Amino acid sequence: MAERNKLARLSVLVLRNRREGLLKLLPPGEIREILRGSLTERFLTCGKPGCRCARGERHGPVWYLSVSLDQSHRTGTTVPADQLEQVRRGIESYHRVSEHLEQISDINRELLRRAKGPRRARAL
Ligand SMILES: [Zn+2]
Repeated sequence: MAERNKLARLSVLVLRNRREGLLKLLPPGEIREILRGSLTERFLTCGKPGCRCARGERHGPVWYLSVSLDQSHRTGTTVPADQLEQVRRGIESYHRVSEHLEQISDINRELLRRAKGPRRARAL
């Protein structure tokens, strides 16, 4: 919030330059690998009736990518060990890119706000 209030004190030129800087922090290679979710370790059942997991001795632990779809629904998938690092990177990218998008949106909202004032600047 404090960061957002500061935007009001910056010039349009500075805001646009800052936005260009943020755009450079959104490389396509990073966005390509983006993954939303969280990694958890799980113990699973395989479904075979005679298996030890049916008697409570579950398989695992296995890594699981858990993703919320809305307030009451989640989905996910198991993650093979050899893909764990890539998945971790994808999740980190998601958070980093989300933060940068939020900052760009804040700047655009500030530019939009000024475009309504007496000395109208081009909005975005
Ligand atoms: Zn089993």
